[in-house]
Amino acid sequence: MAIIVQKFGGTSVADAEKIRRAAKRVIDTVKKGFSVVVVASARGKQTDELIADALELNPNPPKRELDQLLSTGEQQTVSLFAMALEAAGYEAISFTGSQIRMLTDSVHTSARIKSIGADRIRKQLDEGKIVLVAGFQGIDDDENITTLGRGGSDTSAVAIAAALEAVECEIYTDVDGIYTTDPRIFKSAAKMQYITYDEMLEMASLGAGVLYGRAVEVGKNYRVRIHVRSSSEETEGTIITCEVPQMEDIVVSGATIQRDLAKIDLVGVDNKPGNAAKLFAHLAKAKIVINDIIQTEVSVEKANLSFTIGVADLPDAQKAIEQIKGTLNCESVFIRDDIAEVSVVGVGMRSHFGVADAMFTALAKAEINVDSITTSEIRISCVVDKNVAEKALKAVCLAFELDKPVEQRKKN
Ligand code: ADP
Ligand code: ASP
Ligand code: MG
Repeated sequence: MAIIVQKFGGTSVADAEKIRRAAKRVIDTVKKGFSVVVVASARGKQTDELIADALELNPNPPKRELDQLLSTGEQQTVSLFAMALEAAGYEAISFTGSQIRMLTDSVHTSARIKSIGADRIRKQLDEGKIVLVAGFQGIDDDENITTLGRGGSDTSAVAIAAALEAVECEIYTDVDGIYTTDPRIFKSAAKMQYITYDEMLEMASLGAGVLYGRAVEVGKNYRVRIHVRSSSEETEGTIITCEVPQMEDIVVSGATIQRDLAKIDLVGVDNKPGNAAKLFAHLAKAKIVINDIIQTEVSVEKANLSFTIGVADLPDAQKAIEQIKGTLNCESVFIRDDIAEVSVVGVGMRSHFGVADAMFTALAKAEINVDSITTSEIRISCVVDKNVAEKALKAVCLAFELDKPVEQRKKN
């Protein structure tokens, strides 16, 4: 029988009524003749509450213990969900990540999946049961419980869909699909029928929280058809896939905003081979994740090096810079912790001109000053003052007609 994986996010299972509604979704799919595996998140804001409980007792909780604690949220949801299914007359069985041998590395709070034991799930499906798996968690080689990073239930679901060769992985959430930008910020954002893995990966890494980036990566690698849709409405959502219709015509598919960033400028470092390597090796040792890097040669002897990081990493990054700046012969260090990054994403950029021009013109018309610019083949990002970031996003969305469905946008 064909398998469908259905993932329900925190808001979609927040209380008994919502679990019942989600259970009805599962039952409707079973009635259509599919075997269903459910992956669920912790209810409502439970993960945040558990983190707050931990911090009250220890401002720097050991990450192993944090994982042990956080994994309980998802465990509660799946057992309650199984009870709701039983009450509706359907046989169901729930598992934790460790019970299905969801093996990960040992990086507590942001572990990566190494393998999944699909046999136990398959056996239960073959017996006609609905299988529920607690999202967001796994175990390492030493049987320690690990978690996959905030939002990581998406990754569990897509990875399980890949392991079971499911026909689709449905992500049920509180929006009815993927929009050109976060509809909570830009209300007239248009819903997309399709989006490519590459675009969704860029959008997720640039702040579109609707789907966890790692889940999209797994989906792309194993060609899992991902369908993001509403848990409260019956409408079709957005399909994430390799190729989308009219791909050539869509220059900009979406726009994002990434907050909580900091930017560090190292001014006047010695312009000689190996300096950038020394700096970034040192930051990597301090476990600082770097977003964008810009290096400019200012003279034969000197260069400027700038990079952005998550603002939470700033204290550690500052310490690391203090240690290394003498070795680099750095003249001065500037730090901004009041920035945000606004980006546009689209695979069509590979073959179209003028996207940068249109983006900068829109920002100039809105009188927004751009601090720095970075690009990839399919995106352009501008660092702006965080107070004007939403205004910048809206200006860019209107410039690229992201309030209109694709068919109604002007052709380039
Ligand atoms: P869940 O708890 O179901 O995993 P999330 O809160 O992680 O839900 O993701 C859904 C949220 O993602 C939406 O409420 C929406 O505000 C936000 N979001 C950000 N960018 C987008 C986008 N481009 N399209 C749709 N939703 C987006
Ligand atoms: N419960 C976890 C979180 O809040 C994982 C998830 O919801 O995907 O981040
Ligand atoms: Mg989520």
